[in-house]
Amino acid sequence: MSTYNVVIDDDMIRNMMQTNMKESIDLLSLKQVLYFVFLGLLPAYLVYKAPVNYRVSKVEFYSKLKQTFILAVIMGLTVFVFFKHYSSFVREHKPLRYTANPTYWIYSVGFYINATLTAGPIVVKPIGEDAKVLKGPDTLPKVVILVVGEATRADHFSLNGYARETTPQLKNEKIINFSNVHACGTSTAISVPCMFSIYDKSSYNYKKGIQTENVLDVLKHTRDISLLWRDNNSNSKGVALRIPYEDYKSPETNTICNQDECRDEGMLVGLDTYIDKQKEKDVLIVLHQMGNHGPAYYKRYPKNFEKFTPVCETNQLEECTREEISNAYDNAILYTDDFLTKTIGLLKQYESTHQTAMIYVSDHGESLGEKGIYLHGLPYFMAPSAQTHIPALMWFNTGFKNTLDMSKIDNTARYTQDNLFHTLLGLFNVETKVYEPKLDILKSQE
Ligand SMILES: [Zn+2]
Repeated sequence: MSTYNVVIDDDMIRNMMQTNMKESIDLLSLKQVLYFVFLGLLPAYLVYKAPVNYRVSKVEFYSKLKQTFILAVIMGLTVFVFFKHYSSFVREHKPLRYTANPTYWIYSVGFYINATLTAGPIVVKPIGEDAKVLKGPDTLPKVVILVVGEATRADHFSLNGYARETTPQLKNEKIINFSNVHACGTSTAISVPCMFSIYDKSSYNYKKGIQTENVLDVLKHTRDISLLWRDNNSNSKGVALRIPYEDYKSPETNTICNQDECRDEGMLVGLDTYIDKQKEKDVLIVLHQMGNHGPAYYKRYPKNFEKFTPVCETNQLEECTREEISNAYDNAILYTDDFLTKTIGLLKQYESTHQTAMIYVSDHGESLGEKGIYLHGLPYFMAPSAQTHIPALMWFNTGFKNTLDMSKIDNTARYTQDNLFHTLLGLFNVETKVYEPKLDILKSQE
């Protein structure tokens, strides 16, 4: 909390429960160890060693009760005297209660358990079982690659007007850039399941998400679409439980790794073989990126992408200047720019045989030290737009473009991750009761 200005609410507890060793190691530091030793272990030891002479338990009990009562009266009176001040202060500084220690995180653990555990096994409610693909006789099979990005913010993409050239390769591709897209949550554990869920941001919660099928299940119900999820992030956050899933975080599967970590572009290796095997079937491939996962941005790209220097080379972000942090962060975007362009390059091989599309959407944004705030995960109502305004773009090959009315696509209108569910169904021409054309970005103007 003191380093990154985060708060420990129930969603942050969820992030902790769902993280892995590699992600947590990125957050460890000497300062944290010193905090733990000198402000945790040492005082605990001194308290443990302090001699206490207890009286008989009854006497002890009443004496404690008396003390507690007197203290409670004093506290009550103090609040009462300044009541006007307190009530307006608490009302106007809502975020304050999120930083109260240790009460708020203890409360959050309880809240998390209540919001997560179900009595008995999880029963998943099916949706869209009526789904079917409407296909003309001569239509080519479709290959859609959906890239779920990690912690990129819209205002650091030069496609959205960022002064630095962070997307030099994508700008030469015929992409449609959506400049006004907003995340469902401020962390991976919320945004990822929410964007695939039928629930919108206002009605989504963890339990509903995990107990209801998502858009990938609806696509699966058509029996006409091959689905594959490759993950170089933590995991699919429950989204890909019922479709083929491949972990790309280790050298066993990912062929592009250094000693620290595996690269996103490793997920592209062998995809052509996979696509060829699906023959005439439509294909949706989801690639979940490591992207700009913080705080160690400098680890997120190969050295030859270090165009902006000097970079912050520690996870103690507050020790770096804002410029050093931005430099490392922007270099990681350059690497995503390269990854997305390579993905498009892969799809270009199928120009004459398939209709192909690439969709990129980030899960949430990232704070880079503005007002002392770092990383992401603040409660939505107090999160700065850096954490919620996300980059999103699409690319279509000529065959796919011919099936869309490009003039009706409004790429500056305001969209959210709620639109993904319906846009994916629309892309595959899926007919089902759960499809709402007005939420489909590519059909919304009709
Ligand atoms: Zn994330």
